[in-house]
Amino acid sequence: MPIQLLPPQLANQIAAGEVVERPASVVKELVENSLDAGATQLEIEIDKGGSKRILIRDNGSGIAEQELVLALSRHATSKISSLSDLEQIFTLGFRGEALASISSVSRLTLTSKPAAQATAWQARAEGREMAVQVSPAAHPEGTSIEVLDLFFNTPARRRFLRSDKTEFSHIDELIKRLALSRFDVSWSLSHNGQQVRRLPAASTAIARQKRLAALCGRQFAEQALWIENQYDQIRLSGWILPAAACQGQPACQYSYVNGRMMRDKLLNHAIRQAYGEQLSAEQQPAFVLYLELDPGEVDVNVHPAKHEVRFHQARLVHDFVVSALSDALQQLAAVTLPATAE
Ligand code: ADP
Ligand code: MG
Repeated sequence: MPIQLLPPQLANQIAAGEVVERPASVVKELVENSLDAGATQLEIEIDKGGSKRILIRDNGSGIAEQELVLALSRHATSKISSLSDLEQIFTLGFRGEALASISSVSRLTLTSKPAAQATAWQARAEGREMAVQVSPAAHPEGTSIEVLDLFFNTPARRRFLRSDKTEFSHIDELIKRLALSRFDVSWSLSHNGQQVRRLPAASTAIARQKRLAALCGRQFAEQALWIENQYDQIRLSGWILPAAACQGQPACQYSYVNGRMMRDKLLNHAIRQAYGEQLSAEQQPAFVLYLELDPGEVDVNVHPAKHEVRFHQARLVHDFVVSALSDALQQLAAVTLPATAE
């Protein structure tokens, strides 16, 4: 075969293979877009584990009528415009690929109304085979994206979907993780018409505690220690459970780097090391931790789905986390030790 450029639709579907693994990955991309658009209210409706329908409604800044088609095109983003922007990322998205990828493997409807626009407009794309159709619509300020029949045109992918229950549990877990990163946002999640989670925006310490209990359990909310520590430009805050309260089952184990949820080996290693010998081999650490540092010190462009980051000063970050946590855990262990004769 001679070398030829891939048709855009096929290129999008190949890219979709990296970003859109399952319904939960669609939800992640769409919710991150809403958060980047400054939304403070998110409604997520799921039907049949997301394989039938995913709807995300936000009250964010919206997309202007003349940009709707562009928003669905590959490599189209409002978030970066230069390499130096890429090195200082403040948004969750920046690749300009999610909407193009998702619309290439589903029937997608994007409806939006920016504050400055008198009416809402809607763009529909189906498997990206047909031209995107734009028409007037009714919608309050903000954006809704509806994704129907995920993977309808990529049967190999569709076959990999698990039961509705399993797919929904991935979505629920994702919303949990996201809701722990944004207490200032109100979240609502429903499955097959039934509300599963309703988390009002939490602006007071009591409200935050309530959300923590709803997501990580009462025991965690009551016994975890709030920590805050800073070294130079690196800041670590969050909750950590004292070793004595850690159980055998996998518990709340959530970490975030500059607001982005992560499963980071370096952080997990540092956390385990901080517990040290306080934790037996059977016990699982439990934590919700937020690491913040200069965006120029982290590379987020490591993985298409952005599950990983790379720290420029990995050793420094690691050691800071170990020392911040082990100080706190040791103080805690001293306090919770059974009282002695003195
Ligand atoms: P990226 O997030 O990497 O920029 P996406 O394909 O996810 O790429 O989105 C493309 C663009 O569409 C975004 O840069 C943004 O301008 C716009 N957009 C997507 N979703 C929303 C939303 N919910 N509210 C406002 N704008 C949005
Ligand atoms: Mg995005």
